[in-house]
Amino acid sequence: DVRHGTVLYVEDITVSFDGFKALDALTLYVNAGELRCIIGPNGAGKTTMMDVITGKTRPDAGRAWFGQNIDLLTLDEPRVAQAGIGRKFQKPTVFENHTVHENLELAMAGARSVWPVLFARLSGEQSAHIDETLELIGLAERRHTLAGALSHGQKQWLEIGMLLMQEPELLLVDEPVAGMTPQEVERTAELLVRLAGKRSVVVVEHDMEFVRSIARTVTVLHEGRVLAEGSMDKIQNDPKVVEVYLGE
Ligand code: ADP
Repeated sequence: DVRHGTVLYVEDITVSFDGFKALDALTLYVNAGELRCIIGPNGAGKTTMMDVITGKTRPDAGRAWFGQNIDLLTLDEPRVAQAGIGRKFQKPTVFENHTVHENLELAMAGARSVWPVLFARLSGEQSAHIDETLELIGLAERRHTLAGALSHGQKQWLEIGMLLMQEPELLLVDEPVAGMTPQEVERTAELLVRLAGKRSVVVVEHDMEFVRSIARTVTVLHEGRVLAEGSMDKIQNDPKVVEVYLGE
């Protein structure tokens, strides 16, 4: 079976807005444990693709499967999240008036109301999960800091940690390093590399240097289709890709 080890199947997906095809029979596969970067000029269809995968936009045609048998096109956004797909939007959304640790507790509890969650005792297992995540995102020392007092980069890492509380199998990350300092960019690269393996990570990013530093496989979208796919070296020497980027 050629699909063995594939976690995400996007096949022949077409999305039209008033006759304009934002996605045009897009086909793309993501392997289990992979760290994939999606690049492409503005308007290429990157956001629309993420919207289709997460149940925010329904395509006109095509199929999208998660794992071996979850038909993503039958699920709404909350159910896609429950199925194991976490999405990190560009702008961090954390509970500014709660500590880093409380933010993770709240994320672990899902949509339940704030105070009962914070007064509930954590099990040993839950506590360990939060501690591990704090280490992973580099905020163990900041566990009692109010999220509102964190730097922009730290807020981004916290939000990734919050997504990890639901133990997603696939993490979709939109432009994680926009607005970060060079040191934060470097730490974000390390974090994303560490996250892959146990789960799959798909990153949409404009910063080419960053993409080069993290990606094994890069997919270039253009006009709603895959223009090229492969290693960064292969992509950068592809005349089709060069033409699209020079024309931007
Ligand atoms: P990217 O994220 O790669 O910049 P998008 O997926 O946001 O690209 O957009 C792809 C194309 O679809 C663009 O031309 C955009 O203007 C168009 N588009 C996206 N969403 C809508 C919408 N809700 N209504 C009309 N056109 C849209």
